Amino acid sequence: MRICVVGTGYVGLVAGTCFADSGNDVICVDIDEAKVEALRQGRVPIYEPGLEELIKRSVEEGRLTFTTDLATAVRHALVCFIAVGTPQGEDGASDLRAVFKVAEDVGRVMDGYRVVVIKSTVPVGTHVQVRDILTRSTKFPVDVVSNPEFMKEGAAIEDFLKPDRVVIGASDERAAEIVKDLYAPFCRAGAPILVMDNASAEMTKYASNALLATKISFMNEVANLCERVGADVSLVRQGVGLDTRIGLSFLYAGLGYGGSCFPKDVRAIIHTAGDHGIDFSLLRAVDDVNNRQKRRLFEKLQGFYNGSLKGRTFGVWGLSFKPRTDDMREAPSIGLIEDLLRSGCSVRVHDPEAMDVARSIFADKITYHRQNYEALDGADALLVVTEWNEFRRPDFDRIKRLLKEPVIFDGRNIWEPKTMRELGFTYFPIGRPSAVQR
Ligand code: NAD
Repeated sequence: MRICVVGTGYVGLVAGTCFADSGNDVICVDIDEAKVEALRQGRVPIYEPGLEELIKRSVEEGRLTFTTDLATAVRHALVCFIAVGTPQGEDGASDLRAVFKVAEDVGRVMDGYRVVVIKSTVPVGTHVQVRDILTRSTKFPVDVVSNPEFMKEGAAIEDFLKPDRVVIGASDERAAEIVKDLYAPFCRAGAPILVMDNASAEMTKYASNALLATKISFMNEVANLCERVGADVSLVRQGVGLDTRIGLSFLYAGLGYGGSCFPKDVRAIIHTAGDHGIDFSLLRAVDDVNNRQKRRLFEKLQGFYNGSLKGRTFGVWGLSFKPRTDDMREAPSIGLIEDLLRSGCSVRVHDPEAMDVARSIFADKITYHRQNYEALDGADALLVVTEWNEFRRPDFDRIKRLLKEPVIFDGRNIWEPKTMRELGFTYFPIGRPSAVQR
């Protein structure tokens, strides 16, 4: 099938590449000329495991191309995916300007029937606005399908190629069948393709992210209570999560959720609820808890150093909002580093993939270290902010030699308090007993 994907970010690039990989003829469109040029030259602008090889293969086989020319792409395709960003607007609502602009532009250049698929995360009812814009901008027939994306950054290719389920919202059966057909190769192992109305599809995405965010905030509150009462959240997690009604996933305590989806989607659904006279107080609490949790490590630092942080140096391991991505949008590392800088600290950072992104945020206010141990040289303590796998089994003797004192604040609970005590570290995890050397 001939398709075009408008918006070549995390979602658009992964979706376009995976559709090309399954034999479709795909054109990816973006307004960012530098991004398109980089992709044409074989440089992938984001880090996502497996993506580069997949792009290379499809480009070489002539099934995947990149352009800034929307008209050519739309005329080439039967199905046009809209995968542009829907960032949070000032009032917490989604900013849909990019989606509406693409709809208008697509409508203007269409030269026959098209299926326009909204893949961006958009509030319930957006399909009606997109359909209105399209029908105002073209004389040709058009169907609007809502097809929210559930991929996780860091495992996006795997999620796209082997989804738990695919959600297709459509009012026209033929359009639903066309999109269903595109996903069929990824669902051969039995993943269901759920066809529903557009509004339910749009709602499914928000409800799903909001529930996952709720699990995280819930467990973070439990962790904070565990610290006060002397319980260990990692044991509690197992005790709770092994109940099959609950499950173990998304119950890790840490520094809260970040990224481009959970924070903004939670706020967007609160906003949508407000527009319809519903105070979604549960999700307001989820958002509040998360904002507080992002500051937990800094609070622990203040506590340990009795508020006197000025002149201290900290080595930070992990900057991306989660492992296996270079995405730092709403990452807990950002607020932490800002707090440290405001308190007069020096900050030395290391991340396996997000250093370039960090440079665009902090410029020369902090120092960047290609090697994780280098970031600890002469530091007062190590702060673990992202649970990259490569941090899990470090050379603890080397860490001790590099730090001024053997002190670690672990925002992701990657090590065992008991082991850390035995190794001679003062160790502060989240929701677990600390190990303090006296
Ligand atoms: P992104 O910011 O990485 O990419 C968006 C791209 O759209 C950018 O490259 C931008 O240049 C391009 N763009 C903007 N306006 C354009 C226009 N008029 N024409 C062509 N291109 C245009 O965003 P993303 O992370 O890929 O997210 C896209 C959507 O998918 C959002 O609604 C997001 O909520 C949703 N989503 C994201 C994820 C994720 O993990 N990132 C997962 C599920 C859903």
